[in-house]
Amino acid sequence: MLNIALFGPPGAGKGTQSKLLIEKYNLTYIATGDILRQEILQGTPLGMEAKDIIDQGGLVSDEIIVQIIENRIQMNPDANGILFDGFPRTVVQAYILEGLLLKMNTSLLCMLSLEVPRETLITRMVERGKVSGRSDDKAEVIEIRLHEYEEKTIPVAEFYSHKKKFYPINGVGRIEDVFKRLSKVVVKNLENVWLNIVLFGPPGAGKGTQAKKLAEKYNLIYISTGELLRREIECGTDMGMIAKKYMEAGDIVPDEIAIRLIETKIKMHPNAKGFIFKGYPSTIVQAYILDGLLRRMDTTVTSMIEISSTTLQSMKRLSARAKTDKARVYDPEIIIHRLEVYEKKATLVADYFQKQNKFCTVSGDGNTDEVFERLSVQVERIFKNVR
Ligand code: AMP
Repeated sequence: MLNIALFGPPGAGKGTQSKLLIEKYNLTYIATGDILRQEILQGTPLGMEAKDIIDQGGLVSDEIIVQIIENRIQMNPDANGILFDGFPRTVVQAYILEGLLLKMNTSLLCMLSLEVPRETLITRMVERGKVSGRSDDKAEVIEIRLHEYEEKTIPVAEFYSHKKKFYPINGVGRIEDVFKRLSKVVVKNLENVWLNIVLFGPPGAGKGTQAKKLAEKYNLIYISTGELLRREIECGTDMGMIAKKYMEAGDIVPDEIAIRLIETKIKMHPNAKGFIFKGYPSTIVQAYILDGLLRRMDTTVTSMIEISSTTLQSMKRLSARAKTDKARVYDPEIIIHRLEVYEKKATLVADYFQKQNKFCTVSGDGNTDEVFERLSVQVERIFKNVR
């Protein structure tokens, strides 16, 4: 999802710019001020509670706001993204937003702040008051609203600055020019969104070959826990020595080891466009671990693609691989054990991502190019959904 918060004092032009942003990026619009005015018009209990506060230029309670926001989010379960206008307006609301987005498995891309001098804001609102009929667009109330903004809302900017998600933008000038400035920041932020794909499937499905090709084509960093572990073994590190026993028996290595290797590898690529994981997660525990690990870096698994393969097909491929130059130890019993481990663990892992609508399957039938073609179609679809 592409979620943006439009920030700035009353009269900064948030409403006007919102219309352009939602159209360009196909976003669901949530403007707390508009919703509150609607509630007042309809005479709902919530509207009645908010009316006096709005008329006096104060801020409505966070309790009312959280209900409004939750309600709107639920009304749009398939939103491509959300544009928040006039929210969050307090630090408490910023925490609420974080929680709500987390619950939806997403996060805020950026907060765009329209910066306009005080005198211009007052002139704009007084002018608007002549046509809008808004009870709060009057000189005395405008003064209080600006005071509320300075007192309670400015700290929200600090909250997002700290997260490096806050972008002040000059809000003075022609509407199209201000919009260009906003769009530029959105595009730049979208380019920085990591695309994290997990390639899943039984041993011998062709994950390694395909993941490397995909990484190259889409400029992603390839992370194979198997390869990272084999390197540790080659270098004779402590971790390698521990891992060796498990790998030789066709078992899954202890989770602490893989986490450390993945974290180190990710940190080596701060400018990456994203990662393609192969061989991880292979258990439900690892699915949680990877999600947690990526969330700590303010990102998440974008999608899991499974390459389906019958046992016969897998056996054929593994047996063929045993005859290549880079042959790994081939022991039928170990292969059978690995396939068994996969079969036992795979359903829970697939379910984990399926529940989040982050799972798809591609047939592993045919030659490398044919499978690669199918995978590319999926990756491009995932790209489009994210950016
Ligand atoms: P706006 O249309 O965004 O200028 O909002 C008009 C009025 O609605 C504000 O002055 C507040 O009284 C109330 N309001 C809108 N959004 C919020 C919010 N997030 N928190 C508290 N009060 C709000």
